Formats: sequence, C-alpha cells, structure tokens
Amino acid sequence: MEYVYPEAHPQKQFVAVFNINRCIGCQTCTGACKATWTFSKGQEYMWWNNVETKPYGGYPKYWDVKILQMLDEAHQTVGKEAKWNPSGTGEQSPYGVYEGMTITEAATELNTGQQALGYLPEDHEWSAPNFYEDTSTKYKGGRLGISEEGATLPVHQTWFFYLQRICNHCTYPACAAACPRKAIYKRQEDGIVLIDQSRCRGYRKCVEQCPYKKSMYRGTTHTSEKCVACYPRVEGKDPLSDGVPMETRCMAVCPGKIRLNGLVDIAEDGTWVEDPQNPLYYLIRVEKVALPLYPQFGTEPNIYYIPPRWVPRPYLRQMFGPGVDEAIERYSAPSRTLLALLQLFRATQKMVFRFEIEEGPLVREVERNGQVWQMYNDTVIGFDSKGNEVARLSVVEQMHERPPERLNSI
Ligand code: SF4
Ligand code: SF4
Ligand code: SF4
Repeated sequence: MEYVYPEAHPQKQFVAVFNINRCIGCQTCTGACKATWTFSKGQEYMWWNNVETKPYGGYPKYWDVKILQMLDEAHQTVGKEAKWNPSGTGEQSPYGVYEGMTITEAATELNTGQQALGYLPEDHEWSAPNFYEDTSTKYKGGRLGISEEGATLPVHQTWFFYLQRICNHCTYPACAAACPRKAIYKRQEDGIVLIDQSRCRGYRKCVEQCPYKKSMYRGTTHTSEKCVACYPRVEGKDPLSDGVPMETRCMAVCPGKIRLNGLVDIAEDGTWVEDPQNPLYYLIRVEKVALPLYPQFGTEPNIYYIPPRWVPRPYLRQMFGPGVDEAIERYSAPSRTLLALLQLFRATQKMVFRFEIEEGPLVREVERNGQVWQMYNDTVIGFDSKGNEVARLSVVEQMHERPPERLNSI
C-alpha cells in the first residue's frame, strides 16, 4: 500500500454500518445534514450525505463508473490484473488481499504527477443528486414487461437499491494526500477527516482525487468543504449528549433504522484492537456482515455496508469486494448474537461502546437451505462510553393491545 505521508494512526476511528436492506430511500438523512451544515449561500448543490439509486444513479453523475473505468484502463495500460487473493484472509484482512493497483499506486505507475487517479466533475454533474432515483434495471420477460412470478430471492430479475453515502473518513484519505496546502488532516482522537478552512485555497485537488467525490467546492468562499462527521456530537458537546459521544445527525434521524455509528479502538500499528463487545467491531470483524465501499480504491474507507440480498452478485462483488457472498449468507440466517445486535440500530442517539445479550426463549424454528434456523427472543443491551445503559431491546417487538374503550375511532 502506497501513501504519501508516513504511517500515523488515530487512537480511535469513527466508523458506521449502513444496512442497505432496510433503507426506504426517504432522504431524511440527506435533509438532516443539509439543515445542519449546508444551508448557506454557495452550498446549494452540496449534499454531504446523499442517497443514490443504484445501478444508474450517482452524485455527482456516474462518479463510480468514471473512476472504475479509469482504474480499469490503468490496469490495462500497465498489464496488471485487479484481482483479490482470498487465501490472504485474516483478522486484519477479513476479505482477502487485493493484488491489483489502488488509485494511488495507479497514479504512480502511470506517472500522472498526482497522488491519486481522479477527475474533476463539471458543474452539471453536481446538479441532480436524485438523478435516476427509483429507476430499476429493465425486465425483459412477461407481458408488458411485468413479471407474472413476482420477485424471489436470491436475485430479483429487475432490481435497484439505495446507496447511502457520506465521507468515509478514510484511513488513507486521498483528499489529504492530494492537497498541496496540507489543509486536510485526520484527527488523532477519532480519525475524522477535516479541511482546515483557513489553509484551504480552493485548488480543488481533493475534489479531483477523492475517489468517492465527497469533497466539494464552494464558490462563495473559494474553498472546499466536506462532511465533518458532526464532530461536536462525536465529542459529546451536543446539549442532548450528557457529555458522552453521540451519533451524527444523518445517523440519528434515520427512520429506516439502517445506521449504526460509533468509535473503534486503533492500535499503534493501525490495526483494530480486538473488542468483540463493541457493536461495530462485532458486525465488521467478527460476523463480517458489513463491507467497505469499493475497497479496491485503497483509501480504506470506514463506512461499511450490509449488502442488499436481491442484487446480482457480480455487481455487488465489484462494489463491496469478495466478502459479499459470505456477508449475505450470514445476514440471511443470522446467528443468535447477530439477530439481537441488529435490533440496536437506531435504538439510541448515544454511541454504543459495548453491548450485552440476555438470553430469552426459543420463539421460532424454520428450515433454511436444508438446515434448521432458530430464533430466540433475546434482549440486547447497549452501554455508552461511561458504561451507562442507554438501550434495551428484545428481538420480538413488544405488542400493546388497546383496551376497547380506547379503540381508535377514526
Ligand atoms: S471519502 Fe474522500 S473526502 Fe472523505 S476522507 Fe476519504 S478521500 Fe477524503
Ligand atoms: S456525519 Fe454529519 S456532516 Fe457528515 S453527512 Fe452526516 S450529518 Fe452531514
Ligand atoms: S434516512 Fe435512513 S432510510 Fe431514509 S434514506 Fe437515509 S439511510 Fe435510507
């Protein structure tokens, strides 16, 4: 792995898991970020959080198609193959080892004179964040293009899904590498990547070389801006927080309950400190149900996704790497701990640093792929950074029956 600056790692890292399967595309997250951070003059086209419909949507338009194409052409030019070696799988490389070129390595090989492969989107590419919203792939069979069979797993015949995107607060941020002013830095206390507005001169090198296109130029200030990970909340300075770290605005408002956000401990050598009681660590490193977006770019993004179950696997493997099949398998028939932990999404605005599970009775038993799968009504309990209980939920949702005298008369 090639990077312009010497190794230096934060003590903790801002991490989130987005469960694509649950997203309803309501854009509440997008609105919450806009209302909090980007409501001023010059920020009209800025959506630090956006939710785009895949496979066609993208903000800016076709951002991933373009960078994937550049990376592919780079491999063809130097005669290399962008492939994964699954035999290198281990604790710190849960999905195997990528043996192709990252965007920084490709820039070096091609002698571009830049830190990373990239391009500067034109103004019109930023103009329609909901471009192709809710547009599915074409369905060829059936009368009038309507399926008579309905949709079945494992892969739907026509499909789309929502991809929720914020800055990945990357371990090796291409934006920071690209900045000639050294205006972009990664915070020691939580790994959040910020742009120092007093140093930025608006050269837009970060806009050009962030492969996720999450740094954006503001014409009124002539500087670039990006998602700040709602750092006052992460620092516990929000009035609601009681001095403990809180999840960000876009996470906390999500009605689909798809987002879980927290901090993981980082060792001096940059590896994740083993902590299976941390919910993020458990989902990403123990169960491996959540995967990084386009890991082949090489920036080591810290937003992880539970892939959608109904989408063709080759598309998902290109987007989330070789861990897709295993992640979907584990999510589809979750272990007892995973099923309980999935209830913790959006149960509290406070970051959960530790979870425990109280075992409950067996409530369901079904056969799946020739194997028995059992569901228990366990209870998951979440604790904040001070060890206080902040969430308690059971797998089976509590039901309340209204007494006859209070029946809704509408
Ligand atoms: S996603 Fe882009 S803007 Fe965010 S840290 Fe990574 S390279 Fe920088
Ligand atoms: S973390 Fe905060 S700043 Fe970043 S996209 Fe979400 S709401 Fe916006
Ligand atoms: S608020 Fe949640 S459910 Fe709604 S679009 Fe955003 S991530 Fe999806």
